[in-house]
Amino acid sequence: MKTNEIRNKFLKFFERKSHVIWPSDSLVPQNDPTLLFTGAGMNQFKDMFLGKGNLEFKKATTCQKCLRTGDIDNVGRTASHHTFFEMLGNFSFGDYFKKETIEWAWEFLVQELKIPEDRLSVSVYNDDQESYEIWEKYVGVPKAKIYRYGEKDNFWPANAPLLGPNGPCGPCSEIFFDQGERIGCGRKECEPACDCDRFVEIWNLVFTQYDRTEGGKLTPLPHKNVDTGMGLERMARVIQGVQTNFDIDIFSPIIKSLEEITQVKYNGQIEHAILMRRIADHVKACVFCISDGVLPGNEGRGYVERRLLRRAIRDGTQLGIKECFFIQIGADCKQCNAGILSRYQAASGKHCTDCEE
Ligand SMILES: [Zn+2]
Repeated sequence: MKTNEIRNKFLKFFERKSHVIWPSDSLVPQNDPTLLFTGAGMNQFKDMFLGKGNLEFKKATTCQKCLRTGDIDNVGRTASHHTFFEMLGNFSFGDYFKKETIEWAWEFLVQELKIPEDRLSVSVYNDDQESYEIWEKYVGVPKAKIYRYGEKDNFWPANAPLLGPNGPCGPCSEIFFDQGERIGCGRKECEPACDCDRFVEIWNLVFTQYDRTEGGKLTPLPHKNVDTGMGLERMARVIQGVQTNFDIDIFSPIIKSLEEITQVKYNGQIEHAILMRRIADHVKACVFCISDGVLPGNEGRGYVERRLLRRAIRDGTQLGIKECFFIQIGADCKQCNAGILSRYQAASGKHCTDCEE
């Protein structure tokens, strides 16, 4: 199943559950000057979660363009870190809550994406008995596959009860895909919280039900909200059965074009693969920044972008490229003759019609 198909299936699925398919916000948050870049699907709905928004619907689904640089040093080295990525999500602003969220998530994974149930396990927050019972009684997940974790793993924001910040927060429930015993630490007792790669977190369901005030007091919110997030590239990796996010179909044209430019094999030395993955990630990030009006510069967003650009160019020189190469990456799609920008406008809901099936 192609990445574009997963994206479409997700949005259409929630549209059938009477959600409004809402466009991705720009990478430059339109209504939130406190943020440098949009980093999550819920950013554009902050006011709706606080009960101050003026959108006329209570259920929405989006595929949000996101940019995060907090883990920049991991990009290319791990299977799933990116600076730019797409986040699928469904949202309830004081409408449905845990039961529907959990049941729909399972239905989507098992019936729409056809993931075998025995490859899935879930986690809930220690004190969230309600979610535990929904997973066990209504969905029928065996007890042995429902894990209870603390506020570091299963609360949003992480550790909020103890450390804050004040404001809306709540427990979350995560869904994991088991890549099998051969991947990761190989220990019998390996479980989703293990640091090894065996269990891939594919969906985070956040139940915003409290308002935290000074001293860690959690008061129930009058309107309970739902905010879920599924990383599209990671989901595609699981469905396509490939090793890293950079091996999925939407990255392979970029990697292939880098192989042509550098005459270096992607599947050769691991150090070369890391450089190519990083360039692929950063070039996408830069393309989307520019298309959202951010130009490389000396401060703020422009500085972040300039840093991405310089890192990718440095990586290119390490692969032996002497000339200017950014412009050549994916510039001449053999399938559709469109440039990288038009082929990756999918996140804004626009597709290159020539090479989409
Ligand atoms: Zn493990």
